[in-house]
Amino acid sequence: MSPAAFAPMFERVALIGLGLIGSSLSHAMRRRGLAGHIVGHARSQATCDKALEIGLIEQAYGSAREAAVGADLIILCVPVGACDAIAAEIGPVLTPGAILTDVGSVKTAVALAVQPHVPAGVHFIPGHPIAGTEHSGPESGFAELFDGRWTILTPPSGTDAGAVAKLRAFWEACGSAVEIMTAEHHDMVLAITSHVPHLIAYNIVGTADDLQSVTQAEVIKFSAGGFRDFTRIAASDPVMWRDVFLNNKDAVLEMLARFNEDLSRLQRAIRWGDGPALEEFFTRTRAIRRGILQAGQDTAGGEFYRARAGKDGGEPGKSGQ
Ligand code: NAP
Repeated sequence: MSPAAFAPMFERVALIGLGLIGSSLSHAMRRRGLAGHIVGHARSQATCDKALEIGLIEQAYGSAREAAVGADLIILCVPVGACDAIAAEIGPVLTPGAILTDVGSVKTAVALAVQPHVPAGVHFIPGHPIAGTEHSGPESGFAELFDGRWTILTPPSGTDAGAVAKLRAFWEACGSAVEIMTAEHHDMVLAITSHVPHLIAYNIVGTADDLQSVTQAEVIKFSAGGFRDFTRIAASDPVMWRDVFLNNKDAVLEMLARFNEDLSRLQRAIRWGDGPALEEFFTRTRAIRRGILQAGQDTAGGEFYRARAGKDGGEPGKSGQ
């Protein structure tokens, strides 16, 4: 599709946060000409300067509030724990008819934190692109990040249908498919598909690190035996993931309880030499992997975005969702 395939859908887009997701959104918008103007704000001057230098935004503002003035689409692309304070700051300058959204990996807590600051007439529609890499920062983004992936929108009941349709069309123009669900359902689904797997990766890498009898050299040398994939996930940004676990506590604890029960079952099968039980279980899980490949949500080599992300540079420290 040519870059000018879409007319601008929004006159002025304010990106609050200019890391992996904010910068990828800028590239995706520019690819299709979705925004008349893109402006932004990040916490540090260094990030603002870099975003201007590489053309992510036309203007950088010293505060989220200044960036949000006059915007008809405001996207919070900051760690989940920062959304409350930013919403309080920008709320008074948001104009009726504007759409306020976010990209946070947790939805119920963000909705509860942001909603009280949203003035009447402003459409607040939380969102979450299920796309990411283990890189972060303004240089890590790329236009194709959302292509063929899902974005989940969790509009509170009573949200203006036209605004939801417009935000859906925006994400579709960014390359994503869109699904709508409640914030609570989102948090439960993501707890098992993303949050608990990250916790397991953090834990297993930590356990290996603690083992006195296994040297660092051996961990690196023999990492291809499954451990390597965990280390990539466990290199994810500590602040982003701290916020995810603090803000999706109930769903994560519920999924962890189920996980522990199933792990105990496997433990028992190993202890009692129950080969058929192990084989039956592993056959079932293999089918899940096939389903993911068939749905186009990964490649057989598991290098879905990594080659591209690595080429673009960016700081290591994040992994998808
Ligand atoms: P990132 O690359 O670390 O970027 C975060 C950005 O937020 C940076 O520009 C940072 O500014 C800015 N920021 C942090 N605190 C701020 C504050 N208080 N005020 C203003 N700006 C602030 O993070 P990301 O990967 O883009 O993640 C952003 C959001 O997307 C998170 O909520 C995350 O849950 C969600 N998400 C992430 C992924 C993923 O795979 N990474 C996928 C889907 C959704 P400085 O650079 O100046 O510090």
